[in-house]
Amino acid sequence: MRLATAIIDGRPEGVVIHADGAATRVGMPLQALIESGDAGLAAARAAAARPADIPADALRLGPPLPQPRKNIFCVGRNYSEHIAEGARAQNIAISATEVPVFFTKPPTAICGPGDEVPIFPHVSTKVDYEVELAVVIGKPGRDIPADRALTHVFGYMILNDVTARDVQRRHGNQWFKGKGLDGSAPTGPWIVTADEIADPMALGIRLSVNGEPRQEGNTRDMIFDIPTLIASLSQGLTLEPGDIIATGTPSGVGYAMEPPRFLAHGDRVVCEIDGIGRLENTMRDTSLSAQVA
Ligand code: ZN
Repeated sequence: MRLATAIIDGRPEGVVIHADGAATRVGMPLQALIESGDAGLAAARAAAARPADIPADALRLGPPLPQPRKNIFCVGRNYSEHIAEGARAQNIAISATEVPVFFTKPPTAICGPGDEVPIFPHVSTKVDYEVELAVVIGKPGRDIPADRALTHVFGYMILNDVTARDVQRRHGNQWFKGKGLDGSAPTGPWIVTADEIADPMALGIRLSVNGEPRQEGNTRDMIFDIPTLIASLSQGLTLEPGDIIATGTPSGVGYAMEPPRFLAHGDRVVCEIDGIGRLENTMRDTSLSAQVA
């Protein structure tokens, strides 16, 4: 099932998306649905069996999880080609780590499909993109063994780990600040439930800017696969329903291009992952808002 958050009369509501793009209301927000476990999934299945109550052309989607209960977990350096391009661009040695490198983005970074992603020129002039497969946790757990990890996954969505490279460098190359700005985590367009993704480690993943291909990879090239990430992150740390884990980006980011290219006002960024869908956002320079309006 494809489960989305629709904006209906200004309020977010959980919906199931039918094959033709129309939607049926589930009757609860997706966070509550995920927390309800099997009962939540049963409610979603019941909605999927009812006729659509929102036609596709009237459907406005928000982020699937508009207010995560905690920071979004992210993984750095999880594709070797991306590590290599970073080392080249910065002219330093960077190697793969023996265990996953985790950082987070705050809940205020969340935005949804079609949303404008703000550029704050007084803060950053080097805004970059990173398409990533995001895991949504269903069943809670701590010290989850890798061979049971996928049973804790509710589903999958796309996340663009928008990054202010200059802020990142300025703050000691520590990732939180440069990756934590408002709107820097476009997510969606929906959550595909885990039962529909036969192998999350074999999905084509790509990103384009204004139609120009920039990133093209496959999740099979992750250094630490999803079971390993969940096992490692959950060591001594409880994962809860609705927690989001972004699993790292393949190569092709803007700062590693020669010369580097960063996102600008009006740029259209399209992220795609096979079996999930397409997440499209446009960049908006906040200092130009008067002219735009
Ligand atoms: Zn990233």
